[in-house]
Amino acid sequence: MAEEEVLLHKHSIPEVPWLGFDHDVQEHALVDFAEYPLRRGWSKDQIIALKHGDALAFDDASCLAMLQSWLVFGFLEGIYKRRFSSSQYVVDTASGRVVDTTQLRQFFDKWHGLLQQESSESMLSYWRYSTIRLYELHSWYAALEKHCTQGIFPTAFDTAEYHSIMRLVVLIADSIYYNKTSVASRLIQIRSGLNWHHTEVNGAALRTRLIQKGWCPSLHGLFMTYGLAFTEYASLLDATDGNVERHNRCADDAKCLGVNYLGTGAGPKHIANECHCQIIRPSSSQMNGIISNNKIPLIDLGSLSPLMSDCPVVEWDQQQNFIAFSHVWVDGLSSESEIGLPLCQLRNLQNVLFQVGPSSLIWVDALCIPHEPTIRNLAIDMMAEVYKRSTAIIILDAGLRSRPLGKFSTAELAVRLLTCNWMQRLWTLPEILFSQRAFVAFQDGVIDLNILRSRLRQTARFPIECVGFCTLLRFVHEDGTEGLKIGEVQRLLASRNSSRPDDETLAIAPLLDLSAANLIGYEGQDRMVQFWRQLREVPRVVILLVCPRLDVPGFTWAPQSLISTSGNVPMNQEYGSATVTQLGLRGTFFIYELKTRRILGNAASFIIDPKAQHFIAFRPLKHKFDRAQTYPYPCDGIVLLEESRNALKRSAITVITDPALGSSVVRYKYGRQIVLDFSPLPVSQELSANFSSIGKYQELTIS
Ligand SMILES: [Zn+2]
Ligand SMILES: [Zn+2]
Repeated sequence: MAEEEVLLHKHSIPEVPWLGFDHDVQEHALVDFAEYPLRRGWSKDQIIALKHGDALAFDDASCLAMLQSWLVFGFLEGIYKRRFSSSQYVVDTASGRVVDTTQLRQFFDKWHGLLQQESSESMLSYWRYSTIRLYELHSWYAALEKHCTQGIFPTAFDTAEYHSIMRLVVLIADSIYYNKTSVASRLIQIRSGLNWHHTEVNGAALRTRLIQKGWCPSLHGLFMTYGLAFTEYASLLDATDGNVERHNRCADDAKCLGVNYLGTGAGPKHIANECHCQIIRPSSSQMNGIISNNKIPLIDLGSLSPLMSDCPVVEWDQQQNFIAFSHVWVDGLSSESEIGLPLCQLRNLQNVLFQVGPSSLIWVDALCIPHEPTIRNLAIDMMAEVYKRSTAIIILDAGLRSRPLGKFSTAELAVRLLTCNWMQRLWTLPEILFSQRAFVAFQDGVIDLNILRSRLRQTARFPIECVGFCTLLRFVHEDGTEGLKIGEVQRLLASRNSSRPDDETLAIAPLLDLSAANLIGYEGQDRMVQFWRQLREVPRVVILLVCPRLDVPGFTWAPQSLISTSGNVPMNQEYGSATVTQLGLRGTFFIYELKTRRILGNAASFIIDPKAQHFIAFRPLKHKFDRAQTYPYPCDGIVLLEESRNALKRSAITVITDPALGSSVVRYKYGRQIVLDFSPLPVSQELSANFSSIGKYQELTIS
């Protein structure tokens, strides 16, 4: 955070007390992270005992003080190989001595500049070096967290001081991670394998602070994907959606009820509650005529007049420029062309439009998609084309429109853009991906999204701006949406949602070059089945996604929705793909067939692979979508993506034989998700005779 902002939020930022370790007082040599405590009077054995939770070498307060200094200044000195004097980062306040990291921002700034001048080789070696150091820090963080959750040394590791150290460590690690990421060329891969999370106490405190600021609790998952620095910073700001009341009933791990609600009272709204201006709608016969001819209908806002109740509709011809609006339904623009929109809303669109360009022609779903089902289907099928052909889109989000861009720091800009409702909607994804150019409307004007992105690019050496920049970067594709894969679409869908679950496939089909028209005739699970059939090839990893699955013969392997799969296994091609057939998913998998069917319960079970010399324990993966959730369950085999050579843990599924007559391919029914635990084989002959199974690659169909 920039210095001015720190001053502004000074009273809301939780203070980190300085526990007074002797970091500066005696001048020690600059040493590696691991050596820091050794130089300061700790023995190797004492350090090992501390990590394993065996014994504390000194009294609680001294241990915590050393840990604070080591994990912060010792770590910084180790990773950057230069001195970080505690006197520069510890300040006196009314409540005592506290750690103040404001200066770290300047340091990261300078460091980033220095690295830019280095050769790519030394940049890469720094990247590797810092990655290893972060892993080292993470392993300590995890060990100390365990001491707290398991109640080891409770007087030291369940104290306010302990949690404040842990919070500081996480935030510094996050900043270092993004700082080093921003110098790497492949910025788009922003998350490493490390999972930096808060201790339970710090996490709960952060959630409380967010809710006090009006943030919807359901954003929790979204915040987790953006990291802790981002989330801590957001907790200092008022929620982007100023309409706080509508989130009163929202919960942590559910869909946001405020934005996904389209029940009674939904529909077009006037800009002000007390407004009663007239409703304007296009002529239905004109509108339907244009759409039936497979042409794009446009509304001409240039000739809008309070004297008419019809707004002028024109058929788009290739020479004309037009703007398409991309908005959030609950903001008041949810309608159908037969119903129309209040004049005040149209005036509002007009105002925004005239800031962008010379054309007065617009396309907005509320006026250009009719209710009448056959015409509606044609109009929906045409939407990808509309956004592709439009000169630009204008992003309308009530939260952004109520705030002046001019007052934003770059960090706030990142948080506002990434947390606005527009970003969480399903339909806005294809709208932005198909657009040639996008503008965003703020209180003080309309601005090109590219300008905002380059503003974030210039400051991407700081964690919050880096997250903002990388997220916006995903909307830019060199060749439009060409070649977009299901895995990328899944990632882009992360934390988006729709009031109408059935819309999901309609919205994403055009992104994958599939026909939405072929899906419109189906509903519910049948529509999803058609979607998977059209896709034909899917990454094999699909069987391991944690999500609800279809309940249709031949498709019990298939996710019911991709929206809900955000944040778990990425659906990429890394493990190859399988083919969708009418009978099931056909592909080559690694399978352990059981000699006889086993009926399994809640507890762990096991098999033995005598050839690979593996003892393999397995248990059901508990998750909220687990279909059966009943025990016992039958198991005829265990299916993995690939042979496990040295992994300790693997995800897999159980399968049940499904003999299909006349099929040359082995057929199994999808069972349930399990977790396998591999260990070397120290078992008796007798056990291995009864429970052995040699794993093999085999082509099979999972129905
Ligand atoms: Zn909500
Ligand atoms: Zn009105």
